[in-house]
Amino acid sequence: MMKAFTTLLLFLWCFILYAAVISGIVIDERDQPLVTRLRFLSPESAVLLTSYTNWFGRFEQQLPAGRYIVEISKGPEYEIKSFSIELSQDEKKEVHVTLKRLYDLASIGWFSGDAHLHTIYSDGNQDVETVARACIANGLSWAVLTDHNTIKGETEWMIASRYGLLPILGEEVTTPLGHFNAIGVSGIVDWKVDDKDDLARIFSDISKQSAVSQINHPFDMKDYFVDWDIKGFNVIEIWNGGSAPNLNGMGNQEAKLFWFEILNNGTRIHATANSDCHDVYSGYSLLAFLPTDKVLSLLQKEFPEPAMKDFIKNNENLLRNWVKYGLHPGTPRTYVRLEELTSSAVLKALVEGKSFMTNGPLVLAQVDGKGPGETVDTLSKESLVLSLKVLSNIALEKVVVIQAGRIIQQLDITGQRECISSTKINPKDGSWIIVEVYGPYPVYAITNPIYLSN
Ligand SMILES: [Zn+2]
Ligand SMILES: [Zn+2]
Repeated sequence: MMKAFTTLLLFLWCFILYAAVISGIVIDERDQPLVTRLRFLSPESAVLLTSYTNWFGRFEQQLPAGRYIVEISKGPEYEIKSFSIELSQDEKKEVHVTLKRLYDLASIGWFSGDAHLHTIYSDGNQDVETVARACIANGLSWAVLTDHNTIKGETEWMIASRYGLLPILGEEVTTPLGHFNAIGVSGIVDWKVDDKDDLARIFSDISKQSAVSQINHPFDMKDYFVDWDIKGFNVIEIWNGGSAPNLNGMGNQEAKLFWFEILNNGTRIHATANSDCHDVYSGYSLLAFLPTDKVLSLLQKEFPEPAMKDFIKNNENLLRNWVKYGLHPGTPRTYVRLEELTSSAVLKALVEGKSFMTNGPLVLAQVDGKGPGETVDTLSKESLVLSLKVLSNIALEKVVVIQAGRIIQQLDITGQRECISSTKINPKDGSWIIVEVYGPYPVYAITNPIYLSN
């Protein structure tokens, strides 16, 4: 319903009112064309339209005459460039934009990806090639196609490797008892379930294909969730792009806290963050353009539970910011640490938790030289050193260090894009360390645990 309404609005806006054209090319500092994301905003910064360059870095957008802010980006490792432009009736304007790369995490073994994406082969709005291009435009190195109960997109998806994306085949095994991503499959996984025992069969079928099983948006299915065998699956999606992060009541916060409990019970299940994108032009971004009551009523339709009414009212500003931030491939994403970018290495790193999750900030954390998913031998050590490097293309607010589920340190980094720090950890205070980074809502990142054992 919401999609149909926003599509209609966009259609009317673009095809009845447009009168001017902005076109151009985006290049990097070595003059090579860059596949990037573009957004057109009103002078008041409401997002009007999202688009992407073609494979050769070129774009052409029709717009009604008027003043716009054009925002060009390519994920968290590139600068975000914004400039304002005035388009008069029937004008054609051409711009050349150079986008600077700020960081190169691949050069130190970190590769970002999204393990939850939909296309027209299930309920997504775009074809496979458009989704692959949007992945590259948002700076992803690898991505998993996970249409509901089908792998029909396989052949087209694998072609994306030509363009520098590592495509991995997946399936969102969609059952009345929950949604489970099978990541790295070679054939279809049977999704039919009669009762809870069939879930064990699904996890076992996934594992027989040497694929990874992920519980998706667990708190959407919370009635069944408590009964699931926690050891039956490989990873848990604690952050799904379809809901705002760090807000009680939308599922992601509940999933994170539940995961902390799992870790405190001694089970090493690792977390992922994925967009679950169904529309690379971000259905949500148009909400930022609508009046507040319309935004709230559309969100109410998306989340119809009665308690959501108050929740939406109480969190209106945060939800608006989240809506404006958009839901694109890679928002959020999981960065994995690899020796070499291959499908099997990505799967292994996801399961081992050699990863951090983010919608922007880059977080490199180590305790006594060990990173996420690794274990520090604390025997005879009274204190350990947590070294942190945080990098970002926008200004951040704070770093939070969590030990065994409790906040043990907070660092104010308001206004900073980069932060290097080292701090002491007492191994007696708990057996795992996680680092969170917060920026202006909803900017956020969280690592998988670094384990402390003796
Ligand atoms: Zn799902
Ligand atoms: Zn999905």
